[in-house]
Amino acid sequence: MKRPTATDSTAQAAGQPRAAAASLELFETRVSENIEIAPGVRLLTYPRTHDFIPGQVVGITVDRRIVPRYYSIASGADEPFVDILYDVLPEGELTPLLAQLQSGDLLLVSRATGGFLDTEQPGWWIATGTGIAPFVSMAKSGLAGGKRLVHGSRTLAGFHFRKYFTKVLSDRYTCCCTQESGPGVFAGRLTQWLAQQSPPADERYLLCGSAGMVVDVRDLLIAKGVPFAQVLAEIYF
Ligand SMILES: Cc1cc2nc3c(=O)[nH]c(=O)nc-3n(C[C@H](O)[C@H](O)[C@H](O)COP(=O)(O)OP(=O)(O)OC[C@H]3O[C@@H](n4cnc5c(N)ncnc54)[C@H](O)[C@@H]3O)c2cc1C
Repeated sequence: MKRPTATDSTAQAAGQPRAAAASLELFETRVSENIEIAPGVRLLTYPRTHDFIPGQVVGITVDRRIVPRYYSIASGADEPFVDILYDVLPEGELTPLLAQLQSGDLLLVSRATGGFLDTEQPGWWIATGTGIAPFVSMAKSGLAGGKRLVHGSRTLAGFHFRKYFTKVLSDRYTCCCTQESGPGVFAGRLTQWLAQQSPPADERYLLCGSAGMVVDVRDLLIAKGVPFAQVLAEIYF
């Protein structure tokens, strides 16, 4: 089994992510909104400080003494604000502090960085949990044509932006749920659903989420004949 390595997009662009994040130039902005959209998952919004390419990440912190963490941008490239979709990790250093932010509070953000970028060509977007964020940005920036999206979640509440993607992608959008069942939702892991598919070898596959998901999906796609070079991954760690 191939382990995820620094060939993955942002890790490659940024070197060691946490170490690289420590040296990011930070700009002051103010929180516009910070709302819980599912249990333990929040959407943080701030006015856009810099341009970005859909799929890129920003470094964020609340205090210069706390090393910024990377977050995928979840808003469209032409929107005047930046959306960040994040899990609140109770034992984490930063996310419990992010969760407390109110409208008007200070936020420190970097310029956008990273190489997890898409084209207008047909392709597959594959995500677990908050790994859906870059695909929201890509879709809102006009890259949804010819795309198929597969989203995995433990719970039905974890299908963030479901209404939006149902409207934009219709039957090219698949939800895979491991712990709950619901209408139109595949019962099981997204790898189980993918195992039943015939992924075209000439399309690009963008994977975003946990390291485990990325490794499993990449192995599965390669076993089904997709060239390694057609698979690009963004790992949240
Ligand atoms: C390129 C990239 C993009 C990313 N994009 C997103 C995104 O869009 N959304 C998102 O939610 N996340 C994203 N992440 C992850 C994000 O950067 C952070 O790693 C995450 O939010 C955790 O930050 P934290 O400071 O709360 O946790 P950290 O303090 O960094 O802790 C990380 C983990 O270690 C555990 N831990 C920490 N201290 C202890 C301890 N003393 N004992 C036991 N366990 C401990 C925590 O529970 C947590 O699981 C991304 C990561 C990368 C590399």
